[in-house]
Amino acid sequence: MGFVMSAQGFDQVISELQKEYRVFAPVCKKGAGRYTDTDVVMYDEITAAPEIDLVHKSDYSFKEFLNPLSETLFFFTEQEVKEADLNKKKVLIFLRSCDMHAVKRLDQIYLANGKEEDWFYRRRRDLVHFALIGCQSTFENCFCVDMKSNQMDDGYLFSVDCINGMYYSDVPENSIKGIFAAACETEQDVSPCFVTENKVHVTIPEDVPFEILKDSLWDEYSTRCIGCGRCNFACPTCTCYTMQDVFYTDNGKVGERRRVGASCMVDGYTNVAGGGQYRRSQGERMRFKVLHKIYDYRKRFGYDMCVGCGRCDDICPEYISYTNIINKVNAACEAAKQGAEEVKNG
Ligand code: SF4
Ligand code: SF4
Repeated sequence: MGFVMSAQGFDQVISELQKEYRVFAPVCKKGAGRYTDTDVVMYDEITAAPEIDLVHKSDYSFKEFLNPLSETLFFFTEQEVKEADLNKKKVLIFLRSCDMHAVKRLDQIYLANGKEEDWFYRRRRDLVHFALIGCQSTFENCFCVDMKSNQMDDGYLFSVDCINGMYYSDVPENSIKGIFAAACETEQDVSPCFVTENKVHVTIPEDVPFEILKDSLWDEYSTRCIGCGRCNFACPTCTCYTMQDVFYTDNGKVGERRRVGASCMVDGYTNVAGGGQYRRSQGERMRFKVLHKIYDYRKRFGYDMCVGCGRCDDICPEYISYTNIINKVNAACEAAKQGAEEVKNG
């Protein structure tokens, strides 16, 4: 069942939901963009519906609630350890279809990539519910159709599409239907909008032969990429982190342990004891990142890590196109396959 609401009706729905949920959504921060007089759209806890940006793709992803850039895990003294408190109120996050697909990747890594679940991720994940933002048209650099993340049929409490000033919601969750019924203008069948065509296309190689690791296609990134790590921090599927102990006292025995986001593109990521470093050039780091997103993860879990949101392309200060890289890798794989065939056939 679906509902059609005015802006006032949608505001009423959000106010009602806020009695039970903390609501996080993309918010446009005026003048806070990376260039002078530009804006940035990023996630924040909202106080009222008009703060939600339903028009633009967010520059940074929803993962900042599930996987914060910096999170205190526990406090320690000489005698004891205490986990950091977490607000136990339920959380509602507004996100788009590609990001709902990204949640599956985060769950895979934090909950099903080893014998134990990540306790700190689990306690946040258990609080979270989703509202799906429909996509009425594609955004620049999106390639969700090729990555099959353009549509989401379940897993959300309700959807929202704002069309000509009216709000259209599909509400599969029975417990909140009354809230929508009380605020709506009409009840009718509603399906969330989704795109069926992007401007950007990629071809993902089925198999990546070993020689691609040594291919010269990676070399240009050693000079073009500045190793800032922005592509990782904007990506909804990057999950790497490091640990920091912060000491409050000179004796170093009282303090807190923080989990802090890490980036495979930043110098020092592969440092090991004794001064070793596995990937030294930006070209090698790019190779690792790209093949992890479109090949290695699939070999382990059966589906690609990348969901095609295009944020890494949007945010790169060096205008490096990740989609171009994918297509170059595919072309190199095809050439290697053809070369191998020719050798086989004499
Ligand atoms: S690698 Fe780029 S396109 Fe793929 S999910 Fe991450 S940010 Fe989005
Ligand atoms: S955002 Fe661009 S320059 Fe920065 S690490 Fe990623 S690819 Fe390199």
